[in-house]
Amino acid sequence: MLRLPVYMDNHATTACDPRVLEAMLPFFTTQYGNAASRNHVFGWKAEQAVTEAREQVARAIGASPAEIVFTSGATESDNLMLKGAARYYRDRGDHVVTLATEHKAVLDSVHALESEGFRVTVLPVEPDGLVDLDRLEAAIDARTTVVSVMWANNEIGTIQPIAAIGRIARSKGALFAVDAAQAVGKLEVDVEAAQVDLLALSGHKLYGPKGVGALFVRRRPKVRLVPLFDGGGHEKGLRSGTLDVTGIVGLGAACALATLEQAIEAERLATLRDRLHERIATRLAGVHVNGTMARGLRLPGNLNLSFDGVEGEALLLALRDVAVSSGSACSSASIEPSHVIRALGVGPDRAHASIRFGLGRFNTAEEVDFVADQVTSTVTKLRELATAEGGLKRESAGAVRLRDR
Ligand SMILES: *Cc1c(COP(=O)(O)O)cnc(C)c1O
Repeated sequence: MLRLPVYMDNHATTACDPRVLEAMLPFFTTQYGNAASRNHVFGWKAEQAVTEAREQVARAIGASPAEIVFTSGATESDNLMLKGAARYYRDRGDHVVTLATEHKAVLDSVHALESEGFRVTVLPVEPDGLVDLDRLEAAIDARTTVVSVMWANNEIGTIQPIAAIGRIARSKGALFAVDAAQAVGKLEVDVEAAQVDLLALSGHKLYGPKGVGALFVRRRPKVRLVPLFDGGGHEKGLRSGTLDVTGIVGLGAACALATLEQAIEAERLATLRDRLHERIATRLAGVHVNGTMARGLRLPGNLNLSFDGVEGEALLLALRDVAVSSGSACSSASIEPSHVIRALGVGPDRAHASIRFGLGRFNTAEEVDFVADQVTSTVTKLRELATAEGGLKRESAGAVRLRDR
């Protein structure tokens, strides 16, 4: 049985996996110790759980446990890695390079740095959403301390050539910071192979709880940061504040599941995504893919489409039994079209018409077929309405003209 509405907005957030919840529950009830309490078994148990979670997170990204700092999520990790590194290495340089399609947590962090006197280069992307590597290399100068490029985009799913960028950044002596909130658990992520120095991830994007995340901080060669918070010196002084043991246990469990299931899940999601795309594109004209569909260059669960003649917001409202999003969820309170779609160089009409489908672990083929049917019939209806309205407008304009005469 299909349960409505169908949730297909897994880039905004994912459901907490029941196996993750199961692992978390004891830390709400009986094992509520503070991981920093050294004098009793409550504290020891909490610390032991955090240690295990640290190992699980590290394993999911090819890091070592000592390189993991727990935070409140990818927004905080992005802020910490960018402001923390730029400020620490201020005497070495004053320049940061990033992309126009980054998440607001990155773009607003580098803009904050700009107001502190740092120079910031925000590079454009190609029409397929990828960065041009020559352009990136040319943008890095002798005073560049941080290059920040997201692993996979949260709107159009574009996967950047992270290993190639890592090589370039290292050869130029800049740190490589990566927002991997959409990549961890969805793609193979290895901070060694990709020569990443700093990497942000988030629990609720990979079937863990909201409000918890992590930052990978490379130890060899050692990367240093100025912390954002002052306080008790938790997490080696990089993130003061009592550890959210329950959330951290959930993040660890989510990472452990991702490590086990990522490859199989990616295949299943790519198949479902292609099925959704095909069922819409073969039945409707005027459908455009935002971003590239080239193999290996798009998140398996991502589809972003624009429909000629249909406003994204109008389509969302009409699709009452389907939870998807238009533009960026984080800026959908404003009517500005998404900065990511605009960065592809498409016109404002197509940017306003974009719909993001985010397939996830709990979506089924039955749901995909339902969503495809709903989208097809709703787009057809909206287009018919627009044509009829256009006709009416022309008629009444004609009537006015007749009266005027
Ligand atoms: C969701 C997301 C974030 C923000 O993560 P939170 O944990 O919700 O703060 C940052 N970057 C990307 C790419 C995201 O998808």
